[in-house]
Amino acid sequence: MSCIPNSVCKFCRRENVKLFLKGERCFTDKCSFERRPYPPGQHGQSRLKFSEFALQLREKQKAKRYYGIGERQFQNYFAEADRRRGVTGTELLGLLETRLDNVIYSLGFATSRREARQLVKHNHFTLNGHKANIPSLNVEKGDVIEVREKSRTLAKIMASVESVKKREIPGWLEADHGAFKGVVKDVPARENVTLPVEENMIVEYYSR
Ligand code: SF4
Repeated sequence: MSCIPNSVCKFCRRENVKLFLKGERCFTDKCSFERRPYPPGQHGQSRLKFSEFALQLREKQKAKRYYGIGERQFQNYFAEADRRRGVTGTELLGLLETRLDNVIYSLGFATSRREARQLVKHNHFTLNGHKANIPSLNVEKGDVIEVREKSRTLAKIMASVESVKKREIPGWLEADHGAFKGVVKDVPARENVTLPVEENMIVEYYSR
């Protein structure tokens, strides 16, 4: 897993999009991107011209930071997507989107992907009734994710369930917050990925 520094807000400013890395804070007027929607650093407000390579790099970095994964793991995802029969960019997003930590965040049981990753590692969830403590596990259609009985009073999970109204649960997932349960209704379609990313540029980046 990548090490995510506390100053993650600069990632949003660098990528020029809200990546929702800080949970509740992202929905308040304390959001750094809302207050300073330009890249960090001395030349942040200058008009810069980017090369094709720089644009491809930014798209890759954006996706990597959004899902909170490291470079090596991201390369592995690309290699796996490239091996598959479908469109490589779409396959890549599908693999990232179906990660267990992303699914738990999307279902509203964590306020950020980083928090979801921690909660998964600490054994607070089951997948199809079995212990699931690997954040990178990929879920499949029909899978059932539940908060373990003993974890249902956990402050972090309760706070997330309380605040989930601010977010939309993606259509390929179904959440029952009363039962602390979520179901994978379908595989995610390209339009279910809310991150504004040009995946074909990521493919071009790795195909150089
Ligand atoms: Fe920080 Fe969240 Fe705003 Fe990004 S969206 S700048 S992580 S508060």
